[in-house]
Amino acid sequence: MVEYNHLIFEISRQGRVGSSLPESDVDKVDINNKLPKHLIRETPAELPEVSELQLVRHYTALSNKNYGIDNGFYPLGSCTMKYNPKINEDVARMDGFSRIHPYQPAETVQGALEVLYELQEELAVITGMDAVTLQPAAGAQGEWTGLMLVKAYHKQKGEVRTKVLVPDSAHGTNPASASVAGFEAVTIPSNEHGLVDLEELKKHVDQNTAALMLTNPNTLGLFEKEIVEIANAVHEAGGLLYYDGANANAILGKSTPGKMGFDIVHLNLHKTFTGPHGGGGPGAGPVGVKEKLIPFLPVPRVAKENGQYVLDYNQPLSIGRVKGYYGNFGILLRAYTYIRTMGPEGLRQVSEDAVLHANYLRKKLEPYFEAPYSQVCKHEFVLSGSRQKKLGVRTLDMAKRLLDFGYHPPTIYFPLNVEECMMIEPTETESKETLDAFADVMIQIAKEVEENPEIVLDAPHTTVIGRLDEVKAARQPILRYIKEEAEKKETVKT
Ligand SMILES: *Cc1c(COP(=O)(O)O)cnc(C)c1O
Repeated sequence: MVEYNHLIFEISRQGRVGSSLPESDVDKVDINNKLPKHLIRETPAELPEVSELQLVRHYTALSNKNYGIDNGFYPLGSCTMKYNPKINEDVARMDGFSRIHPYQPAETVQGALEVLYELQEELAVITGMDAVTLQPAAGAQGEWTGLMLVKAYHKQKGEVRTKVLVPDSAHGTNPASASVAGFEAVTIPSNEHGLVDLEELKKHVDQNTAALMLTNPNTLGLFEKEIVEIANAVHEAGGLLYYDGANANAILGKSTPGKMGFDIVHLNLHKTFTGPHGGGGPGAGPVGVKEKLIPFLPVPRVAKENGQYVLDYNQPLSIGRVKGYYGNFGILLRAYTYIRTMGPEGLRQVSEDAVLHANYLRKKLEPYFEAPYSQVCKHEFVLSGSRQKKLGVRTLDMAKRLLDFGYHPPTIYFPLNVEECMMIEPTETESKETLDAFADVMIQIAKEVEENPEIVLDAPHTTVIGRLDEVKAARQPILRYIKEEAEKKETVKT
């Protein structure tokens, strides 16, 4: 079985092939007559040479080493790793969707445009906004798009506003997006309840405030109680309110950013609306806006005119296109399928169950870990490993120990305002048995920290590789297989 722990380059043998094709009946041409010299290889590409069976086993072995929501529990806070219903895949693979081309004339893709149009309408209802663009390919791109709308809006009014206010509990993409969009990000500290400090906020709001970016419920899983006062403070100074709705799992059918006073919101369809994510797969970060921002939305807009679906480019104030074609169409289709299969009642149930699951797990774990914000939470909650740290075991060690039990760890060391943070989001799609089993393992690890800390400090014990030097892996990645070096390594070992 040794073979399957190797790189594919290591099992390569010169001349071995994985295919047998008939002799070509097309006349050979001399490549030297077809391509300029600088484009022609001098030495053959170093590609692995393996049989078909070796190839299949290699990739099957790799896929088995992967961990995803279809393998097991994945309570990664702020990421909403919920089940991706397989009916979404069926719909995304339908010929009428998968075999069309984005350059086809609009008259020939009316069905696809209808889905996009309806999805825009549905997301507008879900967010309480007046219009939605589906173009952005991720949450972060949605944020950037929203901030470009903010900029266009103030410019249209003849104002230059340079500051974007971001609470310290915000996702890291918020200040980054503000900066990429050309604003200065100003951090607003949270109060002792983990909520935005209204008095601090008011001190920072002025004529220079372009917008406030807020996540509600915030990354501690807490709902901002003073959201109306927060919104008023920013609006009175002429600023706009941006809602980071990447995780809308707690508010579906319960509340809307529109009702809370927000002007712009992005959603992550790859989180709340079951697009498969992780591993760098495509996402979708649609942006919804209130009436006053519609003229600035990206083009083309998917619109309906005289019963026909059209791509409307005629928007002179638009910030332009932010993504090729229609956005990540496959993810949009999956979200549409999900929304239609759940219906309004089903989506409300999603949020109720997500909140119930988070609180159930929170209550089970709070006796064993510090709970800096112990109160009823929304879709996720945070614990602190500070009690274990006093015994010499850090949150990172406990996260590694979870791997031994076959669980993906929670998000750790985020948000930054909680020491030794663990951020747990169970999602609504898990069974009670799974939540109980995970809680039992967390409790066992807490006991190990007291009785047998080495087993936690040395974890993981059961994975293919143990602890990585994560800094080195990021700073000096070895992305190329160098035969001589690999052979040198072999010699050292033997
Ligand atoms: C995931 C997330 C984002 C970023 O979304 P991407 O699709 O990863 O760019 C932004 N804000 C919050 C609160 C998130 O959880």
